[in-house]
Amino acid sequence: MIEISSLVKKFGTATALGGITCSIGGGSVFGLVGSNGAGKSTLLRILSGVYRPDGGTVLVDGISPFEHTEIKGKIFFISDFPYFLPQASLNDTADFYARIYPNWNWKRYEELCEIFPLSRRDKIVNMSKGMQRQAALITALSTQPNYLLLDEIFDGLDPVMRQLLKKLLSREVSERGMTVIIASHNLRELEDLC
Ligand code: ADP
Ligand code: MG
Repeated sequence: MIEISSLVKKFGTATALGGITCSIGGGSVFGLVGSNGAGKSTLLRILSGVYRPDGGTVLVDGISPFEHTEIKGKIFFISDFPYFLPQASLNDTADFYARIYPNWNWKRYEELCEIFPLSRRDKIVNMSKGMQRQAALITALSTQPNYLLLDEIFDGLDPVMRQLLKKLLSREVSERGMTVIIASHNLRELEDLC
């Protein structure tokens, strides 16, 4: 359960979030739709504990995520520019996240590597945008997050991959009760999934 109350985030004199209140129930797929600059990415960064709010509160399972390691272990955030360790392969990335996330599942990692057609040993930095998103998704789902935050995830994914991703997400939501929040500027992309 995510509870957002009168949330404010400012950058200098600019207000990115001007008092948001909403709650997002567990085991659901929540679409965050808005035009460019609406504050979607900012909200996801606050939910994942990257930013500290300037006002109001964000509670994930009753806990404020900023600098809270335990709740961060249940959240995975794929930013619109996913970060990978320099020169890392998918296997290197898996080794790294397996040490950080308490629920990391190697069996799930193996399954996902069979599903997505990616090399595990090639450098991720040399992969296309869509392939890098697939690498991020394999990593994310292997951590078995309770909360999966996705920023413009469909950008760069081909239609086959989009359908596959929607199927995988629906399965994790119904089987494990995972909560997904997807930010997108494209309402069409989300309407069948949320
Ligand atoms: P969206 O993801 O909906 O396109 P963002 O959350 O990225 O919107 O941005 C919301 C507003 O906050 C924009 O006006 C943007 O310029 C501003 N903003 C976001 N991040 C920063 C930052 N790190 N520094 C300064 N301004 C920022
Ligand atoms: Mg954004």
